Amino acid sequence: MKKKTAPRTSASHDLTYAPKNGYERATPADLKHCEEINKAYMEYIGKAKTEREANDEAILLLEAAGFRDMRDYEVSGTKLVPGDKVYRSSEGKTLMALVIGRQPFEAGMHIVGGHTDSPRIDLKQNPLYENGGLALLDTHYYGGIKKYQWVTIPLALHGVFVKPDGKKVSLSIGEDPSDPVFCITDLLPHLAADQYKKSLSEGIPGEGLDVVAGSVPTSEKDRKEKFKYNVLKLLNSKYGVKEEDFLSAELEIVPAGKPREVGFDRSMVLAYGHDDRVCAYAGLKALLDLKGVPEYTACVLLCDKEEIGSVGATGMASNLFENAASELLNLTSASYSELALKRGLQNSWMLSADVNALFDPMFPSVSDKKNSAMLNHGVCVTKYTGARGKSGSSDASAEFLAHIRRIFDRNGVVWQTGELGKVDQGGGGTIAQFMARYGMKVVDCGVGLFSMHAPMELAGKLDIYMAYKGYLAFMKDGRK
Ligand code: MN
Ligand code: MN
Repeated sequence: MKKKTAPRTSASHDLTYAPKNGYERATPADLKHCEEINKAYMEYIGKAKTEREANDEAILLLEAAGFRDMRDYEVSGTKLVPGDKVYRSSEGKTLMALVIGRQPFEAGMHIVGGHTDSPRIDLKQNPLYENGGLALLDTHYYGGIKKYQWVTIPLALHGVFVKPDGKKVSLSIGEDPSDPVFCITDLLPHLAADQYKKSLSEGIPGEGLDVVAGSVPTSEKDRKEKFKYNVLKLLNSKYGVKEEDFLSAELEIVPAGKPREVGFDRSMVLAYGHDDRVCAYAGLKALLDLKGVPEYTACVLLCDKEEIGSVGATGMASNLFENAASELLNLTSASYSELALKRGLQNSWMLSADVNALFDPMFPSVSDKKNSAMLNHGVCVTKYTGARGKSGSSDASAEFLAHIRRIFDRNGVVWQTGELGKVDQGGGGTIAQFMARYGMKVVDCGVGLFSMHAPMELAGKLDIYMAYKGYLAFMKDGRK
């Protein structure tokens, strides 16, 4: 009797799936390109600390690469043809950038949609007051922050005053090493007996996030509120504004300083606002690097208001995207029809490019390890988000996930899957659900983070690079 041959056990015949660290899978060319992409990303995120700045910095990069303002075409009625590169900004906060593809609008677009608003602390409309020999700025936080994390760290002030005549005064204080910064005080441990008894969410209350802004009284003799007045005088001499101008201002308090490399091996990036400028930038960079004419129109979105539910005129729950798509249809086809618009939206494919949570060895109990994104295991594809029984999730189809597998595997993209924490541990959402309304195929796909929504968030360089590589492969894909 002939001896049975042993079953083959080479990797290609292994039936099991075991995610691997990306450094074991990336090519030397990948690792080199990874450093270049991360360097460019760190430069961008160091300048783009607000949604307005993210929009403006992106437009600089787009214009340098030959992209033109789509609104000029809308005004002139000049049609767009395959290969044309355009961008469309809304209120200087939400940006759409496009490379027109060979296929007509009705065939759908390939969309990579990220957001550029990040959790932060906004100034109230009437913020300036004084108490205890200090000038202070009253605040109202934006997005889901753990308030205790924002005290005693150097903070910068970014934003705009808009005068009744429309004149805009932009300011950024705290980023240049010669600038002053701002801060929020915390209680000394010696007197924190009562504070220690409170929960983390109550230890620093929302009204306890007022920002220290000055401590010198004005020399004007008869002036009341001398500390507050001295700040007003400084603001007036430098920016030409008075207290009333705070009423029509958007001033944001963000962590001061530049992103930094982390670790002896410099393999990670610590920065404010990874969520979600990391995916937004990776998408933008992929579009900038898209060579030739794509089969399907490639579209990158840098959205505002995601962190407060995508509401508002610049959020994806509004009709903003649909309106922009209407303009695009009008500029790319001989005739406009509602049916063509709906077909184009429904036939689109989208990567909802937002961050996810990484498995954190400091907090293992909140994650199901085999269904959690791991640092530097590549860009993370998330079939569903939501809370409890997937509530609020758009839950991508298996068919669409198969397409993404094909695209990523064919193009050497290191990727993984990951769910946001254990079932019933909490949850979250992205812009995916708002885009899925059109019947388009959408799946969440982005970079995993440690310390999401903290003043400084931590991401892996290889994950950042693989997001870029994945988005580029997706935009190039011809659905074949
Ligand atoms: Mn996000
Ligand atoms: Mn977020």
